[in-house]
Amino acid sequence: MNNLLLYDAQLAALKSVNRLPQTYWKNYDTFENGFTGKALWLCNRTYYVGSFLNYSLRHVVSSIFLLLNNIFGFLPNRLIDAIYPINIINNRRHFVTPRIIDRILGEWVFHPIATYGMTKKNDGCVNEVFSKLLSKNQDLINPEREKIKFNYHINTAHSSKLNAFSTSAGGIVVFDKLVNEIKTSIEEKSITFANVKLASGETVRLELNDVKLDDVLAALIGHEITHIASRHSIVRLIIECIVSILFVICHFILSDKLSNCIENIANSIKNVIISFFSRKDEYEADVTGVYLAKSAGFNPLGAIYLQQFFKEIKFSIFLHKHAEVMFSHPYPGNRKRAIYSAITVIAQDALQQDARKL
Ligand SMILES: [Zn+2]
Repeated sequence: MNNLLLYDAQLAALKSVNRLPQTYWKNYDTFENGFTGKALWLCNRTYYVGSFLNYSLRHVVSSIFLLLNNIFGFLPNRLIDAIYPINIINNRRHFVTPRIIDRILGEWVFHPIATYGMTKKNDGCVNEVFSKLLSKNQDLINPEREKIKFNYHINTAHSSKLNAFSTSAGGIVVFDKLVNEIKTSIEEKSITFANVKLASGETVRLELNDVKLDDVLAALIGHEITHIASRHSIVRLIIECIVSILFVICHFILSDKLSNCIENIANSIKNVIISFFSRKDEYEADVTGVYLAKSAGFNPLGAIYLQQFFKEIKFSIFLHKHAEVMFSHPYPGNRKRAIYSAITVIAQDALQQDARKL
C-alpha cells in the first residue's frame, strides 16, 4: 500500500468526527430549551473552534514555509527538513527534536520507570502478531532515511487493568487482563456485530463474526506502534516543558498570588488544549493501526471490534459520549465512526460484504 492512501484515510477519519451526525440535531431540537441542550451545544462548539484553530494554524505554518521556500529557493530544502522534518506517518511537519532524544528518554527513563515492578510474561499470540506488524511495516515505522532507528519491543504484563501503553522509541506493554478478556469475548462470541453511526446520520451494521483474536490484537498493537512511530509523547513532553518554563518565569516577575492565579487558569486552558491534541493523536493511532494491520494481512474490522469491546465493557458513559471535549481519549462510538471512514479508504473490500445500512 502507498502512504498517500494512509493520509487520505486519516483525513476521512478526521472529517467524519469533526462533523456531528445529523440525527444529533434532530435530538437536540427536543431539548434545546433545557440546560443539557445548551451544555451539549457549548461543548460541541468548543470542539469545532478547537478543530478550526488547529486546522488554520497548520495552514498558516505551511504557507509561511511555502513562501520562504519560494523566496529563498536557493537555500537547500534539507535545512528546513533538518529543523522541521516531515513525519512520514502523517505527512505533517511537527518535530523539532532529534530522534536520539526519544531513544535516550524512552530507553533510559520512561520505559524503566513505567515498567518498574511489573511481572512480565510471554504471550505467544501477542508476540506473533507484533512480529508480523513489524516485519510488514518497516518502511513506515523505521523509515530508511532516518539514521536513528527505534527498537520496537513488546511485553505482556500481569495487571488487573484493561490497558496497553507505549513509551518513546519502541517500548510497548499490553496487560494480560485485556488480552484475556478479548480472547474470552472472541471465544464466547460475545460481540457479533457493531453499529456505526455515520456523519450523514445513517447507521451501518457491520458483521464481526469473522474477526479473530489476531485481528483485534493487531488493531491494539498497531495503535501503540503508531504512538511511537509518530513520536506523540515527545511532542507532548515538549509542550509541557515550554509551559512549565513559562510558569517559572511568571513566578519570577509577578507576585505569588497573581502568578498562582495565572498558573491555575493557564493549567486549565492547557489541559483542554492537550486533551484536544491527545484525541487527535488517538484518532491518528487508530487509523494508522488499521493501515499497519491491513498491510500485515489482518482483518481491519478488528479495530471496530476493539472499540465495540471497549464501548460495552469500559467506557460507555453519558458524559464521555456528550462532552468528549473534557477527555483525553475520544468516545468509542466516535472512534468507530473514524475507523469506519478510514476503512472505506484503506480496505473497502473488508466492508463490501459486511456493511449494511439500517
Ligand atoms: Zn492511544
